[in-house]
Amino acid sequence: MHSKVAIIGSGPAGLTAALYAARANLEPLVIRGLQPGGLIATTSEVENYPGFVEGIGGYELYENMEKQAERFGTQYLDTIVTNLDLSQRPFTLETDSGQTVTADTLIVSTGASPRKLGVPGEEQLANRGVSYCATCDGFFFRNKRVVVVGGGNSALDEGLFLTRYVDELVIVHRRNQLRADPILQERAFENPKTRFTWDSVVTKILGDDTVTGVQMKNLQSGEETILETDGVFPYIGHIPNTSLFKDKLDLDENGYILTDGRTRTNIPGVFAAGDVVDHIYRQAITAAGEGCMAAMEATWFLAEEEHAAKKRGHAEAEAVTSPALGQ
Ligand code: NAP
Repeated sequence: MHSKVAIIGSGPAGLTAALYAARANLEPLVIRGLQPGGLIATTSEVENYPGFVEGIGGYELYENMEKQAERFGTQYLDTIVTNLDLSQRPFTLETDSGQTVTADTLIVSTGASPRKLGVPGEEQLANRGVSYCATCDGFFFRNKRVVVVGGGNSALDEGLFLTRYVDELVIVHRRNQLRADPILQERAFENPKTRFTWDSVVTKILGDDTVTGVQMKNLQSGEETILETDGVFPYIGHIPNTSLFKDKLDLDENGYILTDGRTRTNIPGVFAAGDVVDHIYRQAITAAGEGCMAAMEATWFLAEEEHAAKKRGHAEAEAVTSPALGQ
């Protein structure tokens, strides 16, 4: 399978790149990955994506983007890339489904994954009370108590979503000041189902088959307490999905792909966009903007190559028809 533009990842960055590449008649191929739609598809409400006056569900936004890119000729492949060779062009991508994809240009938009707490019980009780997706799992916690860990926008946004179902939401934050935007703080403080446990971290998730509680430590007093809970939702930031690109693309010390400000990586013909690059803004709209930039860069890159090849062709043709020239 060959594509002029292969795109790894199907979040806002990848799908916007696909839309632009498709409208440039490049028939892009999007390798959708493990989580089609990326993090936005797991987000409850998106209120800050321009154009949606009343907001839009994250999953719906993803579906719209996907259909829009498809309308102009984007193709999708439901698999994950397991290995790739960027040392020569066309680039080669090995996939989980056994298909090999070759590509003239590559746009990496593999996004980021939720950071884990890394405490005992977290891994064992994943999907049995420990969840990283309030939108997906909130319903299972009707009339229960849940703990959200973190003090950023995700913790508050998703925590507030959970209050649609739960009886009580306890937000455990390691400081006594939230990082989240003031509007979300205001909503959380006003929410009657929500209470905060400040200056505290979760040190253990308790339970055999399902979560029954958390062990917490107060960082000021050192006191350890146990809180009974049915669910734990860690929202403590993200890590970039770049393990595939280690030693293949230049990464920064935190594993984010380094680009030159124009989405170009250190390998000509490979571009990167969205949360896999950006650890500052991390918004759907900035990811979409970068996806647009990456597709335009890929389009220009291919056009320049085509132009150079034509020029070479003309020069060779001229050399053949007028062999005496240049002697
Ligand atoms: P974030 O802003 O990095 O916040 C992570 C939170 O987790 C912080 O409060 C941090 O504490 C805490 N934390 C980090 N490591 C921890 C650990 N090991 N143990 C306990 N707590 C820990 O991440 P985010 O909330 O996922 O947001 C990521 C980006 O997405 C941001 O740019 C955000 O604005 C954006 N976002 C926006 C919206 C929206 O606009 N509605 C919604 C969701 C996300 P400290 O505060 O002490 O550092």
